[in-house]
Amino acid sequence: MQPVIIVHHHEITLKGDNRGFFEKQLRRNVRLAIADLVPSSTVVSGGYGRFVIDLPSNISIEVIADRLTTVFGLSNVCIGVRVQQDVEEFTGAAGQLLEGETFRTIRVDTRRPDKNFPVRSMEVNARVGEYLCKRFGVRANLTAPDETIFIEIVNGAAYVYRSKLKGAGGLPVGASGRVVSLISAGFDSPVASWMLMKRGGTVVFVHFHSMPYTSERSIDQVRQLVESLTRYQFSSKLYLVPFAEIQQEIVLQSPQPLRVILYRRMMLRIAESLAHREKAEALVTGESVGQVASQTLRNIRAINAVATLPVLRPLSGTDKEETIAVARMIGTYDISKEPYDDCCSFLAPRKPETWATIEEVENAEKKLDIHSIITRALGRVTLEHFSFPHVTETNALELQPN
Ligand code: ATP
Ligand code: MG
Repeated sequence: MQPVIIVHHHEITLKGDNRGFFEKQLRRNVRLAIADLVPSSTVVSGGYGRFVIDLPSNISIEVIADRLTTVFGLSNVCIGVRVQQDVEEFTGAAGQLLEGETFRTIRVDTRRPDKNFPVRSMEVNARVGEYLCKRFGVRANLTAPDETIFIEIVNGAAYVYRSKLKGAGGLPVGASGRVVSLISAGFDSPVASWMLMKRGGTVVFVHFHSMPYTSERSIDQVRQLVESLTRYQFSSKLYLVPFAEIQQEIVLQSPQPLRVILYRRMMLRIAESLAHREKAEALVTGESVGQVASQTLRNIRAINAVATLPVLRPLSGTDKEETIAVARMIGTYDISKEPYDDCCSFLAPRKPETWATIEEVENAEKKLDIHSIITRALGRVTLEHFSFPHVTETNALELQPN
């Protein structure tokens, strides 16, 4: 009996002609998620929408399984064993998996995509079930059993397991292309970024900071957020854009109530320029309709007007509480809850405009040399790389004897 983890593909089983592409991306991601724990060659196709991973004896199964529960594109993660296609082997394996457990009722759930195996699923359920009932002195219960034994007969092998963890769902990261996400140290934008990863996007991060007027600590908070989100996409880029000078110029030249709208329009323009460099398909923000003054529908419209790429706002219809629940689940809550200086509360207007027209905003911008502002900011951008897990790279040296 070889200990294995079986993972089932989620939505990609529905993807028709593109299925091969999605599967390739998913297998790459499964391998990356556990790259520091098992050699990539141990992750193989198990046939019919599943991968099987042979487990080395020296590593905790729970650690590997836990990593796999954050891989987008998997519906579940099952810990069990591989056996030969033989009912005796199924009963033996099931008996071993249940040894020492306390339960009163059981169900056996068999799937048989491999029709070369002659015994039908119902019959396997009945025979294995009967054996287990006798051996453990329990009863069968098909609707609400204390324990379920799953058997999968597929591609010349069979897998038996009793524990099934819920997978992350969604689509494999990378399968949908790239997006550039505007990330701050708050609760919303990390959640919005995660949602795009869940839909198969590779997220490139951009953060605008107001150093030296705000502290390095708020940038560190963004770095921590990116590091924590990198768990879901394995490697990340973070562009840091100096924004203080731009804000000062806007403060000097423009009506106070419009400041935040003008900041946001500058952010979008710069982010879009980085998006072109990154060959990204869209921008992402954490905006939620009506949450603050800059996020009224009319102001979103005035801000959005400078973008030519789609600006995705996955949180546009969510309440703060719902966003915070996701932040807790994905591990960004504890980082975002720390106080930070926001580049936009610094130099924020006392009475912000809540219903700006595009005309009035464009008029205000006439005093600014937008091209030169953007060029200067882009010239001072820094780029940081993050990766998960932290694998030391080994290069093979093809040395020749002297
Ligand atoms: P968050 O919790 O993401 O900060 P928020 O509800 O506080 O969002 P705002 O601060 O008004 O809202 O920002 C709206 C959106 O603009 C953010 O979700 C983010 O996408 C983007 N944004 C705001 N500040 C920055 C920044 N300093 N750098 C990059 N993007 C930013
Ligand atoms: Mg914010």
